Amino acid sequence: MFRLDGKVALVTGGSRGIGRATAEAMAAQGATVIVNYVRGEAAAREVADGIIAKGGKAEIAGFDVADTPATEKALEAIVKAQGRFDILVANAGIAIDGLLLRVKDEDLDKLFATNVKGALTCARVASRTMMRAKTGRMIFLSSVVGEMGNTGQTAYAATKAAIIGAAKSIAREYAGRNITSNVVAPGFIETDMTHGMNDAAKEYINKQIPLGRTGTAAEVAAACVYLASDEASYVTGQVLRVNGGMYV
Ligand code: NAD
Repeated sequence: MFRLDGKVALVTGGSRGIGRATAEAMAAQGATVIVNYVRGEAAAREVADGIIAKGGKAEIAGFDVADTPATEKALEAIVKAQGRFDILVANAGIAIDGLLLRVKDEDLDKLFATNVKGALTCARVASRTMMRAKTGRMIFLSSVVGEMGNTGQTAYAATKAAIIGAAKSIAREYAGRNITSNVVAPGFIETDMTHGMNDAAKEYINKQIPLGRTGTAAEVAAACVYLASDEASYVTGQVLRVNGGMYV
């Protein structure tokens, strides 16, 4: 079940956190994984080396998803080198929190450039190869706050809601080419993104989660593997929530 043998997958922001866990999980299912990084080349190399050491296939690709020409060039190079492009995991994301009154214009631009424009640039370029192949899987990382909102996260939540609208539109636009487009919406997951929160804030959030605990990157990765697999061939335009019941 859920094998990805022979498939080529790009995981943006794959050097740590949810991206790293997804890259490792997809490689374990047989995919050749391209681990994208923007700054952490050593960390990306470590992820790829770890996959290779376990008998898997992985390569690294450094580019900033917010830099459209660089992203287009990098994805075209992946297609040229691999001869195919089956799975896109648009995971790269940043969080800049703050109450609306204090949100800076430049932070809004950064958030949308990475979380929305970056994901859509990858999808646009990947779709060319997927359309020719008449098959493909696009998986976009949103967030529980994109659906339920959160005080102090207006701007971030807006980007994560945007990605849901985009993924559903892509699902309709590309269904005729047998390309599926789905969203994974994690709840509160223990990664570098949430690491900096103080204990009181973490305890408060854990109390809002029916399963009573923080999730792991591996639990989110498993959802991505499922959506990339043949077993999910009839699932498109959906939001798969991995949130311990935080939002139902
Ligand atoms: P993380 O900060 O640990 O990892 C994010 C990755 O994205 C990093 O490797 C970072 O270098 C990369 N990245 C950031 N900007 C980039 C850019 N411009 N180009 C290429 N790569 C870039 O965060 P995470 O917790 O692993 O989050 C992964 C995704 O899941 C994000 O989209 C995030 O919004 C989403 N998410 C996380 C949580 C959580 O609780 N951790 C909850 C909901 C959604």
